[in-house]
Amino acid sequence: MQYPEPIAKLIDSYMHLPGIGRKTAVRLAYFTVNMDKTDIANFAEALTETKDKLRYCSICGNLTDEDPCEICQDPTRDQSKILVVEQPKDIMVMERMKDYHGLYHVLGGVLSPIDGKGPDELNVRSLIKRLQANEAVNEVIIATNATPEGEATAMYLSKLIKPAGIKVTRLAHGLSVGSDIEYADEMTLFKAVQGRTEI
Ligand SMILES: [Zn+2]
Repeated sequence: MQYPEPIAKLIDSYMHLPGIGRKTAVRLAYFTVNMDKTDIANFAEALTETKDKLRYCSICGNLTDEDPCEICQDPTRDQSKILVVEQPKDIMVMERMKDYHGLYHVLGGVLSPIDGKGPDELNVRSLIKRLQANEAVNEVIIATNATPEGEATAMYLSKLIKPAGIKVTRLAHGLSVGSDIEYADEMTLFKAVQGRTEI
């Protein structure tokens, strides 16, 4: 006995999501079947809108529904600091901490020769351009994850930026080695930002 086609399709779609195996996908698919029509319509619309309305900010690379993004447009943010993260979701983590009021730049990953990711595959050139165009910036804080690739990327950026006379700092390692900043609690992150060191 096969799953009816629409359910099979749903199971297959759920299985494309990270961390979801067949068993969970089956459970979610049958749950979805029992949702009411309005909830299903809202769910479908939210999914479609992620592709139709979201884009990357042309300045910082953040995911946004307006370009430039809310943070880049905000004149009350501290224009002297740019905090560099791997992914847009890392910005949300830093913002939840509520202690950092500077600007951001999203790399879109880290240097990883094995995966064919060099500087040209990351938003490095746009960062350098930003630094050249904006003399107010006096510190770049590198908040890549505490993985070997994250460390190598931090060192690479430091060598690239420091000759311009801009201070380059790295988050302190209250963050455990190998960990992603998205899993850090707010107090750990707060301490990591406060205790950042020059590299
Ligand atoms: Zn932006």
